[in-house]
Amino acid sequence: MSATDDSVDTGVVTAPGAATKAIRAARPSRRTVETDLGRKRRARRIGRLLTEAHPDAHCELDHSGPLQLAVATILSAQCTDQRVNEVTPKLFRRYPTAADYAGADRAEMEELIRPTGFFRNKTNSLINLGQQLVERYDGQVPGRLVDLVTLPGIGRKTANVILGNAFGVPGITVDTHFQRLMHRWELTAETDPVKIEHAVGALFERRDWTMLSHRVIFHGRRVCHARKPACGACTLASVCPSYGTGPTEAAPAAKLLKGPRARELAVQAGVDPDLVPPTAVVSDTP
Ligand code: SF4
Repeated sequence: MSATDDSVDTGVVTAPGAATKAIRAARPSRRTVETDLGRKRRARRIGRLLTEAHPDAHCELDHSGPLQLAVATILSAQCTDQRVNEVTPKLFRRYPTAADYAGADRAEMEELIRPTGFFRNKTNSLINLGQQLVERYDGQVPGRLVDLVTLPGIGRKTANVILGNAFGVPGITVDTHFQRLMHRWELTAETDPVKIEHAVGALFERRDWTMLSHRVIFHGRRVCHARKPACGACTLASVCPSYGTGPTEAAPAAKLLKGPRARELAVQAGVDPDLVPPTAVVSDTP
């Protein structure tokens, strides 16, 4: 029996009331200064709640091996992972090695990756990446941050994605979702991605960094949206200083949940899953 089945009959909230008041009472106050220890404890609690909320968290770019992940990550700039995943099967078949990217016909590659947007720039990056890998790394993607960031199209964020998911080296991926949620949770006030990476890294065990990144990004895509976060259907409400940024009523909040586990997320937050519209479950997460 799933968590959904377990919880449907009990603890369901269809309207604001006692639960909302309890959350307001329990969540951290913006008026009191939080100690470093207090912040670390709250961060760890957030980490545990994210683990429960997103057991399906993973790298959403389909890939097999470091080269495919590097290519998919370059294509994901300004594009949804779903769109990238529609394009990459054919691309990966056509260009199985770094040498294949190095020697690619530009027009043919542009046509293949056109749906991901900025296809001319991305084609340049992919061909240059292939050339650099052949010339400097014997056609293999290197497994060190210092080497990865010297490659075309690969910045620190992409390098951490590759290290964490293709090499098993713990890394924190500071993308737009990660940055927004760290600020909403007031785990850091830093705005520079590298400083955010270090500040948040100090709050969590190193071995948890990669999965933490996936879970935070999942939460940002499915619950804590940039414009209208689903506060009233969020399991982190009791530890979030930004509770109330989005609607706190169950019905409007449930409508904001997204992704294949939207109904389960509602149940975990004590909200009637029938308030989640069917379209939420199949929606494209940004
Ligand atoms: S959805 Fe609301 S309560 Fe949940 S993490 Fe985001 S701002 Fe906080």
